[in-house]
Amino acid sequence: MAENIVVRGARDHNLKNISVEIPRNKLVVFTGVSGSGKSSLAFTTIFAEGQRRFMESLSSYARMFLGQMQKPSVDKIDGLSPAISIDQKTTNHNPRSTVGTVTEIYDYLRLLYARIGTVHCPKCGKVVTRQTTDQIIEQIYAEFDGTNIMIEAPVVTGQKGRFEKEFEEWRRSGFVRVKVDGNMWTLDEKIELDKNIKHTISVVIDRLKVTREERTRLNDGIETALRLTNGLVSVTAEGKERTFSDKFACIGCGISIAELEPRNFSFNNPFGACECCNGLGFTTKIDPELLIPNKNLSIAEGAIKAVGWNMENGKIAQMTFRSLAKTLNFDINTPVKKLPAEIVHQILYGGDIKIRYEYKGPTSEFGFNGRYEGIIPNLMRKFRETASEWSKAEIGKLMINSTCAECGGKKLKPEVLAVTVGGKNIYELTSMPIDKMLDKIKSIKLSGEAEVTAEPILKEITARCQFLLNVGLHYLTLSREAATLSGGESQRIRLATQIGSGLVGVLYILDEPSIGLHQRDNAKLLSTLKNLRDLGNTLIVVEHDEETIRAADYIVDVGPYAGVHGGEIVAAGTVDDIINAKKSVTGRFLSGAAQIDVPKVRRGTDGRYIELTGCKENNLQDIAVRFPVGVLTAVTGVSGSGKSSLVNRTLVPAIENEWRKDFKKQVKCKSIRGLEYIDKVIDIDQSPIGRTPRSNPATYTGVFTYIRELFAQTRDAKERGYTAGRFSFNVRGGRCENCEGDGTKKIEMHFLPDIFVQCDVCKGKRFNKETLAVKYKGKNIWDILEMTVDEAVDFFANIPRIYNKIKTIQDVGLGYIKLGQPATELSGGEAQRVKLAAELARASTEKTLYVLDEPTTGLSSYDVKKLIAILNRLVDNGNTVVIIEHNLDIIKVADFIIDLGPEGGIGGGTVIATGTPEQVAKAPGSYTGEYLKKII
Ligand code: ADP
Ligand code: ADP
Ligand code: ZN
Ligand code: ZN
Repeated sequence: MAENIVVRGARDHNLKNISVEIPRNKLVVFTGVSGSGKSSLAFTTIFAEGQRRFMESLSSYARMFLGQMQKPSVDKIDGLSPAISIDQKTTNHNPRSTVGTVTEIYDYLRLLYARIGTVHCPKCGKVVTRQTTDQIIEQIYAEFDGTNIMIEAPVVTGQKGRFEKEFEEWRRSGFVRVKVDGNMWTLDEKIELDKNIKHTISVVIDRLKVTREERTRLNDGIETALRLTNGLVSVTAEGKERTFSDKFACIGCGISIAELEPRNFSFNNPFGACECCNGLGFTTKIDPELLIPNKNLSIAEGAIKAVGWNMENGKIAQMTFRSLAKTLNFDINTPVKKLPAEIVHQILYGGDIKIRYEYKGPTSEFGFNGRYEGIIPNLMRKFRETASEWSKAEIGKLMINSTCAECGGKKLKPEVLAVTVGGKNIYELTSMPIDKMLDKIKSIKLSGEAEVTAEPILKEITARCQFLLNVGLHYLTLSREAATLSGGESQRIRLATQIGSGLVGVLYILDEPSIGLHQRDNAKLLSTLKNLRDLGNTLIVVEHDEETIRAADYIVDVGPYAGVHGGEIVAAGTVDDIINAKKSVTGRFLSGAAQIDVPKVRRGTDGRYIELTGCKENNLQDIAVRFPVGVLTAVTGVSGSGKSSLVNRTLVPAIENEWRKDFKKQVKCKSIRGLEYIDKVIDIDQSPIGRTPRSNPATYTGVFTYIRELFAQTRDAKERGYTAGRFSFNVRGGRCENCEGDGTKKIEMHFLPDIFVQCDVCKGKRFNKETLAVKYKGKNIWDILEMTVDEAVDFFANIPRIYNKIKTIQDVGLGYIKLGQPATELSGGEAQRVKLAAELARASTEKTLYVLDEPTTGLSSYDVKKLIAILNRLVDNGNTVVIIEHNLDIIKVADFIIDLGPEGGIGGGTVIATGTPEQVAKAPGSYTGEYLKKII
């Protein structure tokens, strides 16, 4: 195999026909300013080609789709291995996936529980064991030798019923006697039982004297009884009774438990899943509170807000309510809160209510035909049956998930949950943080056969858990739903899982694995990466973190700047090689020639605070927190310490709740004060600015509206009578109708991601010929969308309202993106900065609270410096900024720090230190403080 991966002539996106050699079996870091082309080289070029070759090696069926896979624009790549990408975008939305299932640790636990678990009766909790027929016989000899016994089959234990059919069956099978509630009967007699009383019945199998000669007869009798009862047999003699089982059966409760297989421990398998929630742990219901948000209104005034049920505009609804009011005798003009509770219940849930319809049209949609279905059952049915996405979404808004009443969120059947290892059932074990769970597993004492069986299984579990600890995820639980993890967490889980898979000769491509990780845990992450390399793999890591750059075997610096000003290899080699490269921005920061300064003075707090008390979300331990108003506050702490729980899940929704009248989110905090100091809260996260290629920076920031108006003002447009609407790709008129203004057409691939191909009518230009003929200063509307922000700033320099908006996009460091760059092509960090720009351009009230979650994602030191300038501008205008951050450059420039911890998960959730960076640096027990001390 070649020593190097050799790329020749890469031209995707902004890459300028570049060539680079990357050593194999090394830890390689791609770095450079944001937008310089690192990801284009790592993912769009190298990974895509690796994938394509992998596909080529597959079956001819899979190869049929190859032609449709995009081939990177590159002359050639040599020395490529099968490639696996580990990025943050691949998130798992399947509600059935948990940390345990995605890491496969749960599969090993299922095996462990099935093989060595202690079975308990789900009803009384007693341990149940089983014996072979031979063991049962030996025990009968030991206890009853020489006495007369009766062998009985305990068929019914404490159950209501007449059992007529059963008596008849046993009689026909040739049995003669039964014992019913302690009394003997022959099966010829008529046995009449009260069906409302619980009975205990056994069939008499045989009577004999226990001697060695009778062994065969004893054996037959026992087997007959075991067959008849599915695993139970009783032996009675003078004043003595013993019950045995050859299955897991609770003798006292008469419950027999089937042989447990690994599949029984899976909540994603009908054999194990709770029957009520099908293993989801929750059930989805319509919440009456959401259905009737304002109880001061009457039904006639439209109190009921639901598809088809609103009196204001629904004919059928009006008619239904009128006749329902007659039947149940209430007034539809009475405010809902004044109606008797049972009437409201009947309106909502229906029941045995017949109403008369004067309506003659089709009524099946409401399912009534005279019987009143009830609003909630009707909506639930519509939700299941409707083909309309809109109706589904509307009804969905009224639904809430509540913990399954049967399993209490544990997802499994009771008999499965009654199996323990080390005193804990599989749900309890997987609900422990991984580090605690591992301690527990290591402390389990086993012996004999169980020890031998368990050993290899435990080894796998321990190793895999250890990998998760190594990437700083000790605080997670295996039962945690994968969909609720942050991008960084799920990326590190996939990293840990890859090490567990033990593949060699693979090319791994990672995107900023340090995201979401505290500096403290960085060293562990780095040794995990090295570990993966030492197994015989090549790693390409796109990263800005200095420690990672310094730890790399080989560094490739892409740049020098972003977009058209980048796309070249500025330097490659060791840290020194990068530092010595004159054009390298990264090098300047590495050498210290460029740096982010610690501010000489900090903005002081002035006594105005937004105060939260009694915060209990997730791991927060009933804490009170004060966010100073008018300054830049950083919320810090190790991963899992509770930063997002405090900011995103408590502070923001608590404020929104105070201001919202109708729908309130559930927030776990006692009080909030200080809202008089702000009048708006803006949460700037990394979610996309739109889900379709129709959204772009121009539409998102609103500047496109002004640009369309400008086009409508041109002489060309006026002559033809075109208005601003003509220049929209969202409405008919000016757009290309073949692609409906998308410029591309989506082709759905069955097991591959959808692909987009250029529209062959407009050639990707989204508008029709007539529209494109209209020009402003020589450019048509499509040319404008294709401009980079930098170009547009010059082009529109004389039109203030357009210029100002575009300038803010440039100010946040996005000068290199295109005005019309589809939302789907922007990274999370870029999307976040577009939002930031849109906010900056808005007329500020100076009383806004801005909340940001790791805004440094995707940013090099060079870009971080720009970001800090923007944040300061917001604060200088009188606003308040709260950011969750791990990046020490941001933390050190903050005015105020709220440090949470000390650890992640249950070991965290408290406030460790607050104050200026200088104060936090001195705070004992603060990990953030320890790192701050070194730099200020
Ligand atoms: P980095 O990873 O260094 O931040 P990228 O490789 O993501 O940079 O981007 C390099 C340039 O290519 C940027 O100008 C970016 O806007 C552009 N770009 C990124 N994705 C696409 C795409 N799918 N189509 C066209 N241009 C893109
Ligand atoms: P941070 O933002 O500091 O990394 P988080 O607030 O995300 O920490 O998490 C704090 C704790 O709460 C962790 O133990 C985490 O696993 C847990 N947690 C976070 N989100 C959820 C959730 N949706 N469901 C259950 N536990 C959660
Ligand atoms: Zn359930
Ligand atoms: Zn088209």
